[in-house]
Amino acid sequence: MERLSSKAEIRGAVLAAKREGKTVALVPTMGALHEGHLSLVEAACARAEYVVVSIFVNPTQFGPGEDFEAYPRDLEHDLAMLSAEGADLVFTPATTAMYASDAAVTVDPGPLGALWEGAVRPTHFAGVCTVVTKLFSIVGPDLAFFGEKDYQQLQIITRTVRDLDLPVKVVGCPIVRERDGLAMSSRNAYLSADQRVAATVLSRALDAAGALATDGGRDARAMTAAMRAVIEAEPLAALDYAAVVDPVTLVELDTVEAPARAIIAVRVGDTRLIDNMAITPGAER
Ligand code: AMP
Repeated sequence: MERLSSKAEIRGAVLAAKREGKTVALVPTMGALHEGHLSLVEAACARAEYVVVSIFVNPTQFGPGEDFEAYPRDLEHDLAMLSAEGADLVFTPATTAMYASDAAVTVDPGPLGALWEGAVRPTHFAGVCTVVTKLFSIVGPDLAFFGEKDYQQLQIITRTVRDLDLPVKVVGCPIVRERDGLAMSSRNAYLSADQRVAATVLSRALDAAGALATDGGRDARAMTAAMRAVIEAEPLAALDYAAVVDPVTLVELDTVEAPARAIIAVRVGDTRLIDNMAITPGAER
């Protein structure tokens, strides 16, 4: 496994792989890797002969007062995990190499970027769209792998690729969870022991919504109320939002007539956690 930090070196390495006829996949990450990230690398290795993983804590997707400085970083551990998983190339750019000091052009995520996470983090998705577009431009992958863990991000990137005709296929991958249901996240490292136990409320709330659908329920507002009740019963948790939404437009639904998505954001202490789950009316989960 090779590790490179300059854009020119990355372009050279990918070009060489393409000349050998290899399909190239990209897995963008912010590091502090866990099994969720590795599942993307595994999926990429199954679909492509040359797998590039980027590790870049992107400052432009963090708002003022968010956790950019505190965000966990453990490059040596990340590199060992990626090597064991079979990645071919790791891209670890410095911030100064990624962005010119007077960089001013950004990618607008459109209306999807103002909903849900975007309502709480108004500049977040412009930062995400810009850095992901730059990574696509630097690496030039055939395929790019993203987790459903960040469901809104996955929908926005899919739309960005479509609307800007970016020559890459976006592949979404299922959420990897801890044994007790908590979705794996680099931010779980912020949780104290008590908070870690309380953090299972997100998946328990989503399960409560899903159970209503499995039982034949169609009332999205009742599913949302069920999620809210689970969160309110946990003293260490505070709800940011819970909703059942259209899986593509992310618009909140009143009635679930077709596959939908339950989405939730909760603060546990100072840590903000997000999760989501497919809602399939009348289907076994
Ligand atoms: P991050 O490093 O948090 O920016 O995440 C990098 C990629 O890993 C994103 O596409 C995430 O959606 C994905 N990811 C993070 N956690 C998980 C998880 N628990 N299961 C699946 N994918 C994940």
